Amino acid sequence: MSRLFNPHYSQCQIYKLIINDDCYYIGTTTQSLHQRKNNHMMEFLWTKPCSEIENYVKSLGIEINRENLDKLFKIELLQNFECQNKKEMLAKKDEHLKKYQGDKKCLNNETFIRKVKQEEENLLKRREKERKDYHVNKVKHQERQKKYRETYKEKIQEKSKKYYDENKEKIAEKHNEKINCPCGSIIIRNQKARHEQTEKHQEWITNNTNETEEQRQARLEQNKKYHEDRRIKRRQYDEERKVRNQD
Ligand SMILES: [Zn+2]
Repeated sequence: MSRLFNPHYSQCQIYKLIINDDCYYIGTTTQSLHQRKNNHMMEFLWTKPCSEIENYVKSLGIEINRENLDKLFKIELLQNFECQNKKEMLAKKDEHLKKYQGDKKCLNNETFIRKVKQEEENLLKRREKERKDYHVNKVKHQERQKKYRETYKEKIQEKSKKYYDENKEKIAEKHNEKINCPCGSIIIRNQKARHEQTEKHQEWITNNTNETEEQRQARLEQNKKYHEDRRIKRRQYDEERKVRNQD
């Protein structure tokens, strides 16, 4: 498609090249439709026609010459539009082609659908790669952090003790802060983890979130384990107290 006639894409056209009064090709051009039809024919005779048009015309089994092509091709204007560059012009063509999806007479439909499919596949591949990269980086980051914590264990403990001593009141205040849980309970921040294992909160999650069956089973399992652990700890504590009281 020549751009010589209008480099600024201010007068683009979407056209329909009807072949043999039957199938058609949707195109865009900055040329006049007369010129564009002529170029479609020239491409056939001297260079390389659009493969969709070429395949169809060849299937008709006619002799390829100027006269026959001139009779075979009809060109119609579908829409005038303005744009900035070739990319925008082709995007407009794709947008228009959507209307002909499923129409077997539209010759460049298949190509368009393949192109869209390819783009979707590329996007999925890109996302998958990003996801993998993210995971690899995350694992690396966690390893670095772990190493750091091991290397500077004492320093970190010292620092956090110092921070705690200096901010005792602030920390206590934060821990005792009341917060509204989405399940409707008012809880103390420090008891959030414990609250989240209560029957009321668990029931709320069951009824109000879109977790998968797998996620639900994992959560219920974890909840069960939490309560078992607590029962064991309580029993141990009770027994220790009994022993202390007997002394
Ligand atoms: Zn809750």
